[in-house]
Order: sequence, then structure tokens, then C-alpha cells
Amino acid sequence: MAERQGQLGGQPLFVLSEDSQRTSGKDAQTSNIAAGKAVAESVRTTLGPRGMDKMLVSDSGDVVITNDGATILDEMDIEHPAAQMIVEVADTQEEEIGDGTTTASVLAGRLLAQAEELLDQDVHPTTIVEGYHHAAEIANEAVDEVALDVDVDDDLLEQVAESSMTGKGTGGITAGRLAETVVGAVRRVEHDGVVDDDRIALSTQVGASSSATELIEGVVVDEEPLLAAMARSVDDPRIAVFDVELGVRTGDVDVEYELDSVDQLSAAMESEESELRELADRITAEDVDVVFTTDDVDDRVASLLEAEGVVAFEDVDDDDATAVARATGAGRVGSLEDFDGDDVGSADTVRTDTFGDDEVTFVEGGAATQAVNVFVRGGTEHVVDELERTLSDAVNVVTAAVETGEVVPGAGASEIAIADHVRREAAGVEGRRQLAVEAFADAVDIVPRTLAENAGTDPIDALVDLRAEHDESGRAGLVTVDGETAVGDPVPDGVVDPATVKREAVDSASEAATMIARIDDVIAAE
Ligand code: ADP
Ligand code: MG
Repeated sequence: MAERQGQLGGQPLFVLSEDSQRTSGKDAQTSNIAAGKAVAESVRTTLGPRGMDKMLVSDSGDVVITNDGATILDEMDIEHPAAQMIVEVADTQEEEIGDGTTTASVLAGRLLAQAEELLDQDVHPTTIVEGYHHAAEIANEAVDEVALDVDVDDDLLEQVAESSMTGKGTGGITAGRLAETVVGAVRRVEHDGVVDDDRIALSTQVGASSSATELIEGVVVDEEPLLAAMARSVDDPRIAVFDVELGVRTGDVDVEYELDSVDQLSAAMESEESELRELADRITAEDVDVVFTTDDVDDRVASLLEAEGVVAFEDVDDDDATAVARATGAGRVGSLEDFDGDDVGSADTVRTDTFGDDEVTFVEGGAATQAVNVFVRGGTEHVVDELERTLSDAVNVVTAAVETGEVVPGAGASEIAIADHVRREAAGVEGRRQLAVEAFADAVDIVPRTLAENAGTDPIDALVDLRAEHDESGRAGLVTVDGETAVGDPVPDGVVDPATVKREAVDSASEAATMIARIDDVIAAE
């Protein structure tokens, strides 16, 4: 529908094209808020230890089964622009922290719902925006206050990891072991409180139970040696990483020989042969035992290398080549002329294992321990994929906890404390902004409320109990242990989250909600 903007010499003046769609005022707000709320609502049932999973089926029939908020929202085909902003909240949370994506989007949805009520009471959007911003600041202060006054040691980090994994199908003994693996990985690449997360990789391999997931101190490359005759295991290898085709330098042009005699033919072949031999010699001259190249290796070079006991891998992924080079101290060699001993890296072993139809190579130990790989195992493709997402979240929360040294109680206890703090501070806020600050506090309750709903308990009763317990002891969450959910202090049960998860959730959710609430006009080109 075209928008008539005025009259010009008796003719209607169209500022917008005739096909553009426009909704404005209250209609625009209502539809934006409804869309944002709906998207947030769609992930709500996955929150917490009793949260359920979603199965997402794409047009092409690909199936993803997940409990991860950001993954669900990314896989959903969301078109509404305001709804997209909630997806962005989850994406931001994923990028900045790597966990808490459901929390952040659920909070954003609830902030929108509260804003809608305020708009219905004729509170101006600007007042809501100011109130929410102020409340977000108070909420951040509250996070400082609830932060635990303890050393962030390995035990606590394992609790942080395990808390992020609960409800993701990794129960019991496995969760404890996985948490240990994750903390081990982060600690390996941490120096003075800074985690070099480029050096942590996760890779997946089906065919064993998730309890077989292990920490590889080194790099995992999804490749097998070029020739079956090459060794499957090399101790103390000298390692070279090439970005060079190991063959005759024909360039892109096919070389044609004009030959008139058998002698000439054998001469040509000999010269090619000697070029290839020279190439192999250059490699063996540096006592190289293992070669990774991102390019191709000529069959004859492969045989020559094999004869000298060298194991070669061709067409290695660029990322894998980078990881091997970085971990082993090898240089990336772009031209064989420049190759010398300085470019050679090392490790304790290079070993190729067979998993069903797959062969996977491990570059482990020694210099290679500058990198780690969480080698994720599971019975099926869907299981390993979800476990990889879960462990990736766990790596992220442990990283956040190590880097900030700030850990807060989980199970909704932080949110109860934040809401309480914001509600009390609201009393001191002048005018109608006070309503917005109070509304923000009520919105934060969505986290314990949802944990209660997902655990099958009455959310109102749970909130009443949680607040009472919070007033009495200063810390109250809805803690699930061994499938039993009860109000109590989550800390002794090891239910703890990094403080940054809460901060980022509060900040990105309130930004998105205020941005959506301010919009009173949606103009869309067809
Ligand atoms: P998110 O995507 O927001 O990380 P999760 O499904 O991972 O969503 O749930 C995180 C919430 O679950 C956090 O509030 C965390 O404190 C809580 N939680 C984790 N473990 C437990 C537990 N054992 N009992 C109660 N709550 C828990
Ligand atoms: Mg989580």
C-alpha cells in the first residue's frame, strides 16, 4: 500500500513507492512486540536442567536436535525484523560469552512484554527506555554483589562447566569427567589469567559413548597418510607444514614433449624423475619425518618419501595446517627453495587411528601441547553434534570464569537477588521512570519462573518461596540435583555461573527490548 504524504498541485504526492508496506504508531509497536515475544517464547522450554530439546528440520530434511538457544534461533527461519532482533540478542551473547543464550533471549522477550504493559498505561517509550537503561545499571551492580568471594580454582571451574552442561543429556559420572576435560583444556592454554582460545579446538567422532570423550594435548587432523604403506605412528617426529604442491612444476599448462626417439623419451622422463627426487631430497635433508601439505603430492614423490620412511598428508585443511604449525612450532612453507631446519616443528607422536570408515591423525605431546583438542565422542551424529555444542559452551564459561575471576550462584539465585536489588532501588527513582525500573525487576524474575515451570512446579509458589528464602539467607535458587528440584542455596551443590553471562544477558536483552519499544513506524519495501 502506498503512503500518501501530501498534495502537490492537486496531485497526490507519494513519497514511498507504491508497493511499500507501512504500519505505524500503536500497530507497529504491538506487532513488533508480539513478534519479539513469540521468538523468545519459543526457546523458553529449553532453559535449565529440566529444559527440553528441540528438533529442527530444514527444507532439505536436515535434522538438528539441540537445547542450545542460539542454535535453535539460528536454525529457525525467522523473517519478522523485530523477531530478528531477539535472534541477534542470542547471537551477541554467543559471540561475547558463548553461553546464556536462552537466558538472554527469554529476558529480552519478558522485557518486551513488560514494556507493552507500560505502553498500555500510556507510559512514553522514551521513559521506558530511560528506566530500562537505569535498571540495567543497577542490575550490573547487583551482579557485583552476588559474586562469590572465593578463589576461582579448578574445583570451582569444574562446577561452572558442569552447571553449563546440566540438562544437555550429559548426566551422572560423565558430566563430572567431561567437566574435568574442559577445565584441563582451558588451563592448558591459559597464561596469567588470559586464555588463548585459538589454541582450543573441538572435533567430533561417532562410534563410542560420550564418556570416551578425551582431551588430546595437541592437534587432531581429519586426514590419513597418503599411502597405506606409510607408518601409522611416528615417535619424536620432525614435522614440516607446506603450502606447496609436491610434484613437477608444470604450472597450469600441460607440458607436451615432442619426442622422436626412445632415447629422448627416457631422457625427458629421467629429468622429471630427477626433479622429483631432488624435491624429496630437500625434505629428507632436514630429517623430516612427517609432512603436512595443503596442496597435492605427486604419487612418485609419495613413493620416494615413503621409501625414506617419511609420512605425508596431502590436501590438509588450511585451518588444520595452521593448527599443526602453531602447535608444533613449524613454519608454513610456501616455497621449497626457502625450506630449512628453522621451519621444522616437533611433537612426541604423530599417530593415525581408525574409527569405522574414518582415519584420524593425532599430533600429540612435546611442543604440540601448546594446543589442545577436545575429542568429542558419541554414539551417533546427532549425539556428538549436540555434545560438541554443549562442550563448546562449557569451554566458554570456564574461559569467562578464568578470565574475570567472577562467579555467581546459578539456579535463578542471581536473578532473584538482581530483581530484589532493582526493585528496592526503584523506590528512589523519580516519576514514571520508576514504573519502568520496577517492570525491569519483574522481567528478571522470568529466569527463576521459567526454571520452575520447566521443572514442573508452580511458578508463583516457587517465586514466593524463593523470595522468602532470599530474604532470610540472602541466597536462594531452584536447585535441581539428581532429578529433584528444591529451593535452596545453589553454591554447596556446585550450581554456579560466570558473572559475565548475567551481565551480558542483562545488557543485550535490555538494549534489544528498548530498541524494539522505541519503534513506532515500520516501513518496508516490497
Ligand atoms: P542458557 O542458554 O541460558 O545457558 P541453559 O539451558 O544452559 O540456558 O540454562 C542455564 C540456567 O540453568 C542457568 O540459570 C543455570 O544457573 C541453571 N542451572 C544449571 N544447572 C542447574 C541445576 N543443577 N539446578 C538448577 N539450575 C541450574
Ligand atoms: Mg547454558
